[in-house]
Amino acid sequence: LNFNNASFKDFENIPGQDVFETAKEFQRYLYFLKSKGHLNYRIQSLSPVGPEMDLMLPGETQPTRSVCLVSNDYLGFSQHPEIKEAVIRATQRFGTGSGASPAIGGHFSYHEQLEQKIAGFYGKEEAILYTTGYTANSATLQCLLHKEDLAILDMAVHASVYEGVLTTTVKTFLHNNLEMLEQVLRNAQDKYRTKMVIIDGVYSQDGDLAPLDRIAALTHRYGAYLVVDDAHGIGVVGKGGRGVIELYNAFDQVDIITGTFSKALGNIGGYVVAKPEIINYLKYQSKQHLFSTTATPAILGIIRAIELVDEEPRWRTMLWENINYLKSGLTGLGLDIGTTASAVIPVKIGDIPKTLEAGRLLLKAGIYTNPIMYPAVSKKNARIRMNIMATHTRAHLDRVLNAFSDINAQLHISLPT
Ligand code: PMP
Repeated sequence: LNFNNASFKDFENIPGQDVFETAKEFQRYLYFLKSKGHLNYRIQSLSPVGPEMDLMLPGETQPTRSVCLVSNDYLGFSQHPEIKEAVIRATQRFGTGSGASPAIGGHFSYHEQLEQKIAGFYGKEEAILYTTGYTANSATLQCLLHKEDLAILDMAVHASVYEGVLTTTVKTFLHNNLEMLEQVLRNAQDKYRTKMVIIDGVYSQDGDLAPLDRIAALTHRYGAYLVVDDAHGIGVVGKGGRGVIELYNAFDQVDIITGTFSKALGNIGGYVVAKPEIINYLKYQSKQHLFSTTATPAILGIIRAIELVDEEPRWRTMLWENINYLKSGLTGLGLDIGTTASAVIPVKIGDIPKTLEAGRLLLKAGIYTNPIMYPAVSKKNARIRMNIMATHTRAHLDRVLNAFSDINAQLHISLPT
């Protein structure tokens, strides 16, 4: 296949009549991206998650040691010796699998313990576990909301929320736009059985936060409920690592908290924390919980991770030192990092080909980042996204800043002065 004369435009409208035709054309698009050196999706890493990783880069036969800025393991807990020890002990005691779904005998003491632990972490009584954070959102919303209900979404919520509201009435408001939210709430009065406002605590592409206090006040003023997915907030934001809900002291203002064990807690799985009646309803009505095999005993590592959020706050301190250092370095280079207030830092470029080229050049310089583009963000909003870890050193971050400085000289991605 020769792509010398091909451009991104050639692949904008992939035909959709027949799924195999679509897949074939999509494959051509992947080959095109690969031929341009732009396919840094599913890069294989040979080493553990960490601030540096051994990557099998496209076209190479040997791994390249690169600075890793793509991991949500913000506190480095996937490698924490005490958490690993807890997982090993759990596996030795209970084995590798739970054997069944909760409906038919797959509910064990370790599931109950983790439910209690995560509920208690937020000062609440009850929680329910799901296989992933994605399912926690999609399954819960799918179970609770139906045609006669209204889901009101911040446009920037995670894909799992959009999936959860496919069978309900949906209205969206522009990201963090309170006037628009109020307008939607006002127009919806008395028209629906249940109104639910659904937001993220930390937004995954911009790293910015929801103005939780004001959103909660508006939501309740209009008789709606508030759901907050704080997947990127837990362990990172707030003095005690309880996320955006702690930052705004909004524990009593959020009706349903959803989140994941896969990011700062270094493992896998999702959770929902809410009033006991909602959690019990989900436990008996939510198909993805009832009929899917429960988590493995290795989740006992999550219990230790939650304890370490309190016992070892130094990881959070180190993380924030790194976040602040990188942010001030990037703004010092004139780059647009938006309004991030978390461990997710975007460098906004706008143009998709330029963003892909920046990603390629960074990778070549030994810096592994994520170029993010449509449909994850709008078409003119492409960016390089970075996730910062407590275990990055100053030397790692200086390498990142030097690479951005070189790339800026080549691609002119800084803000106009
Ligand atoms: N919510 C948000 C905001 C996320 O960024 C993610 C991460 N991909 C999820 C939910 C899904 O979590 P998980 O990876 O555990 O499925």
